[in-house]
Amino acid sequence: MTAPALDNEQDRLKVQNSSQTRRNGVPSPRLHLRVCENSSVKKLAILGSTGSIGNSTLSICESFPDRYQVVALAAGSNIDAAYAQCLRWHPKVISVATEQLAATLKTRLKTAGITNIEILHGTAGTIHVATLPEVNFVVSAIVGVAGLEATYAAVCAGKTIGLANKECLVAAGELIIAAAKKHNVDLLPIDSEHNAVHQCMRGGTPQEVKQVWLTASGGPFRNTPIADFDRITPQQALKHPTWVMGQRITIDSATMMNKGFEVIEACRLFSLPPAQVRVTIHPQSTVHSLVEFIDGSILAQISVTDMRLPILYALAYPERVPVTEKDALTFDLATLSQLDFSQPDLTRFPCLRLAYEAAETGGRTPIALNAADEIAVAAFLARDIPFLGIPRTIEAVLQRTSGQPPASISEVLEADLAAREDAREVIASQTTGVRK
Ligand code: NAD
Ligand code: MG
Repeated sequence: MTAPALDNEQDRLKVQNSSQTRRNGVPSPRLHLRVCENSSVKKLAILGSTGSIGNSTLSICESFPDRYQVVALAAGSNIDAAYAQCLRWHPKVISVATEQLAATLKTRLKTAGITNIEILHGTAGTIHVATLPEVNFVVSAIVGVAGLEATYAAVCAGKTIGLANKECLVAAGELIIAAAKKHNVDLLPIDSEHNAVHQCMRGGTPQEVKQVWLTASGGPFRNTPIADFDRITPQQALKHPTWVMGQRITIDSATMMNKGFEVIEACRLFSLPPAQVRVTIHPQSTVHSLVEFIDGSILAQISVTDMRLPILYALAYPERVPVTEKDALTFDLATLSQLDFSQPDLTRFPCLRLAYEAAETGGRTPIALNAADEIAVAAFLARDIPFLGIPRTIEAVLQRTSGQPPASISEVLEADLAAREDAREVIASQTTGVRK
């Protein structure tokens, strides 16, 4: 990979100050001051612009037009949403999933009198969006490993990354973190728990951290009797008690695999072993996570349950942007009556146990964990397997997976494909399918 293009003042400052950055984006005070003095409009590429995080990011751009400018978008198959975003944001480039969708979008835009938006497609198109020279901040919010190559390319091109796509870090965390260090790139977590940890980490040095506590709502089945788990329907699992999100992450929250991925994500982002990343069930989703320091202090981050807030934090970092009542991002402490915390039950949530085991084993097992989960979640949503078929499928796939670490992104993608194939075989051989 080539050295990053230093195409703006912030990139140059980042390199000048790289020796002051303590750990993956956790700043020293001097770095903070330098960048604040030189802040300007940030030029954004949003990967996954039509999704839940993508739309929340655009909502922040709507609220702060003087700070954030939309330059490029990458979307999947929702062509109506992509078309509407082109009309509203007029990006320089947009990429969609396939050549056919790109042609459809081009025709619709031409009919609307718009011919000066470059329309690309596929992985190459997403990579182009992620590495445009005029973009200095990339929001990585494609779901699944579909976003991996573009996110990696953006890191190698020296872009600051707002990272929502946790699957990238689960599957290829070591490679992405190594590239971020090499290219002096800030990986700023948008996932609310990691965003909270990032904020709390500013209260001490990495050596002063005893452990990190990721909060989990416990999902809709926190109190469901285990005997009823195999009768859980996709409709029930898609009703998350506190967050409105895309389908996959909502099912992953119901199985707690989402928290398992987040354990691995935290290990990668904050250079911690799995034993130092703990999970606590916190049904109110008010405390977004906590960092416990060696002197016994625990710092927590509290805010509204709204992904626009971690997105704004990442976009603004290392500054903080003032919000008003109108933005509906302020938290009314007077409404806070109760904060509950309890230990997760790994019998109830075997996916969390499997994730901890994969985090310990490393190598290709986190890749297989993510790939098998994606296939199993799709099979559950299609009513081909029951709810508990999800962990059963993943466990069977993990037993077939080697702990050998991948040496490149292409090896990650090969291991991902192999695990998907294994997952399909396991699902086909399962006898306990659910009738449609
Ligand atoms: P979503 O399903 O709402 O949106 C996914 C986006 O990815 C869409 O724009 C879709 O068109 C795009 N996409 C899918 N496949 C693609 C492909 N092959 N090429 C290009 N684009 C493609 O998902 P989401 O809830 O916004 O989540 C996005 C990511 O952020 C996930 O990794 C998720 O785990 C993470 N995340 C989401 C939330 C949340 O609140 N939604 C919170 C934390 C982390
Ligand atoms: Mg999260």
